[in-house]
Amino acid sequence: MNLSYAPSTIAAIATAPGRGGVGVIRVSGRDLLPFAQAISGGKTPKPRYALYTDFVAADGSALDNGLMLFFPGPRSFTGEDVIELQGHGGPVVLRMLLARCIELGARHAEPGEFTRRAFLNDKMDLAQAESVVDLIDAASETAARGALKSLKGAFSGEIHQLVDELITLRMLVEATLDFPEEDIDFLKAADATGKLSAIRQRLSRVQATARQGAILREGMHVVLVGEPNVGKSSLMNALAGDEVAIVTDIAGTTRDTVREEILIDEVPVHVIDTAGLRDTDDVVEKIGIERTWQAVERADVALVLVDGREGITANVEAILARLPERLPRIFVFNKIDLAGEAPRLGEEDGHEVVHLSAATHAGVDLLKARLLALIGFQGDAEGVFLARERHLDAIRRAGAHLDTAAAEWQQVEIFAEELRLAQNALSEITGEFTADDLLGVIFSRFCIGK
Ligand code: GDP
Ligand code: ZN
Repeated sequence: MNLSYAPSTIAAIATAPGRGGVGVIRVSGRDLLPFAQAISGGKTPKPRYALYTDFVAADGSALDNGLMLFFPGPRSFTGEDVIELQGHGGPVVLRMLLARCIELGARHAEPGEFTRRAFLNDKMDLAQAESVVDLIDAASETAARGALKSLKGAFSGEIHQLVDELITLRMLVEATLDFPEEDIDFLKAADATGKLSAIRQRLSRVQATARQGAILREGMHVVLVGEPNVGKSSLMNALAGDEVAIVTDIAGTTRDTVREEILIDEVPVHVIDTAGLRDTDDVVEKIGIERTWQAVERADVALVLVDGREGITANVEAILARLPERLPRIFVFNKIDLAGEAPRLGEEDGHEVVHLSAATHAGVDLLKARLLALIGFQGDAEGVFLARERHLDAIRRAGAHLDTAAAEWQQVEIFAEELRLAQNALSEITGEFTADDLLGVIFSRFCIGK
């Protein structure tokens, strides 16, 4: 049997590539019951029940056996009919099953296409859709918990609440536009500015939480400067504490500068080691170095690590001279245990200085606290939902419009217009007011099968 479907049936391997106990293929489209019957050799699945079955080829021979789940729309992830095939998790088996789905009329799903359909079918709003990826990509348990909160609508709920209050206020303000001679008195009597300031305060609270959430998601970028043997690796391990330090090479080339990822109190910290930033004629190395300099441009802080007994060497001075001037620097004088010094935090020559021992961990907490304070992390991630720079930007713009509205409220037309613009900015977060090309960018960052 060869069933032809509207081009809108999509299929993808949803589990990670490689071998695994179980591999899942996900299919989404309209009217997929005949599809389900074809692939199970004629069985009719009961909605939302696991059906143990052979998955069969066009000639009726078995390709694999496993479980089939059938979720008729709209009660499914995408809002359309969804079929999940849980087969054996081998790459060859899964490829055969996927090919069979294509044969039955599905096409390969694009990255994020399932979630995009969920968004378009109102199963979730844009902030929730983004948190699907953030949950998958979460670098720490706190980030994962925050992403799940956003996925379940905690962040969107705050935004909706704000939008609702804005709409109520807008109705009030726009009503007065029809009676220009009484407008100011009317707005005064209705306490329009009081209502506006309550909304502004609520927005500020949401902004503070979202900022913490964005920090948990994006983490901070640290440029590490230091001679060999001053204790860079030891310091990274000391900062990471019990949490496993994950050492990663940038994909592609082993000669690229090594970047390390550690967690400091659940905040992901991306460390760029400037040891790789030397002059070279090697083309591949040059590309890596170029990329590292670009990362340096975007960094939050430079950590300058020296052996406290040696001080700042000429090599270190040379690197410092090439760092962007705006980049804050924290000087770390390491190995105080060898000099018999006590840990301390201070300022020398206008720079922050920390004296510590990466070996004994004395003073490491002082540095940790300084680093987290630098990016504005408040330590307590309880109740924080994950957010993105995109969201913060929208909140900032909404705030600016509300501030203009507050300053200009006696010019009722401006007042009304600024409220409208604030509402639009907030609606970009949940996707009610979002350009198509932005949607394209957001969903293209998903993995295939999500
Ligand atoms: P890197 O080359 O800059 O990464 O330096 P490492 O972290 O590999 O450390 C070089 C050597 O210095 C190792 O033998 C460390 O055990 C030692 N070391 C690092 N920090 C300290 C410290 O604070 N005190 C002492 N006594 N030794 C340290
Ligand atoms: Zn090292």
